[in-house]
Amino acid sequence: MIIFKKKTLKAKLRNPLLNFAIDEQEIELRRDPLTKKWCRININRVKRAHPGLAEDGKATKAVVERSKKGCPFCQDNVFKATPKFVNIKERMILNESVLFPNLYPFSVFHAVVVLSSKKHFIDLNDLSSKLLFDSLRNSIEFFKIARRKEPSFKYPSISLNFMPPAAASVVHPHFQIILDDKPTFFTDLLIKNSLAYYKKYKSSFWLSLIKTEKKSRERFIGETGSFSWVTDFAPFRNNQVSGILTEKVSSVTDLSKKQIKDLSNGLSKIFKMFWRKNVRSVNMSIFSSAIDKNIGSYFPVNLKIVSRPTLTQSYVSDIGFMELMNEEPVVETLPEEVAKSLRFA
Ligand SMILES: [Zn+2]
Repeated sequence: MIIFKKKTLKAKLRNPLLNFAIDEQEIELRRDPLTKKWCRININRVKRAHPGLAEDGKATKAVVERSKKGCPFCQDNVFKATPKFVNIKERMILNESVLFPNLYPFSVFHAVVVLSSKKHFIDLNDLSSKLLFDSLRNSIEFFKIARRKEPSFKYPSISLNFMPPAAASVVHPHFQIILDDKPTFFTDLLIKNSLAYYKKYKSSFWLSLIKTEKKSRERFIGETGSFSWVTDFAPFRNNQVSGILTEKVSSVTDLSKKQIKDLSNGLSKIFKMFWRKNVRSVNMSIFSSAIDKNIGSYFPVNLKIVSRPTLTQSYVSDIGFMELMNEEPVVETLPEEVAKSLRFA
């Protein structure tokens, strides 16, 4: 049973924009049905016009142009300017995808996967499922090789920082992948709470969630084969989308070719729809169980995509004291509206 808990607060103020008339604003507090984390949505902020979008083209173009010269991930430099692994395959290439160690790693196995060394910049609109498919397969192959080398490292993750507002220091599109000896805090929370749900209700939280969302249609976006796509009821960032595998596989290293293809198709579709909504910067993380333990009956491979601010001259970060210091996110997009705008035809 999925519980969508929500409460509404009302704040009264004399609004200078309304000639100091009394204005009542609604704040929605929503609790994530799995993590139990609360978020806040101010309905008025949702409606607020976003300045800066119009100047988008300019700022993005300027950054892309400036970063072209000497880009370490472009094909002329990628084999000269990027590091090589020690004791395992130095670099891994699959069609246009090139994988090598991160120059400043967070863990023993932390790699960068350039989606295409041939194209310096690919906008969200053009990130094809073929490029994503190849880079996902390249990543998975790397996890298998690294695991054989160091069996205690068994937690894989695949992430994307796309454009500087999402913390990409290199504009050239690339995944960040890590094989770790422990799950991250958030992965661990997802796995533990999924197990607790499974024990309590004798069913998978994830399958129940999809069933519920599919029925209500409020936050259901669509399916790409074995993956279902929904917006999160209580998101921690704007335009938050979850992709969920509807088959019982929990480690990315156990995904079949068909499942990787379904995942790539979904990602490409969501990125395209985001682009149409004027989103120009995103973060994405794919969550996986440990390689050696299939817990797919209660924790299937799943992922989250969120939008980040658009690069403009009047750039304002979307993370402030509430998010960073208090771990209580404030979001400006209504999940039900987002789902409507992303729904697959
Ligand atoms: Zn480049």
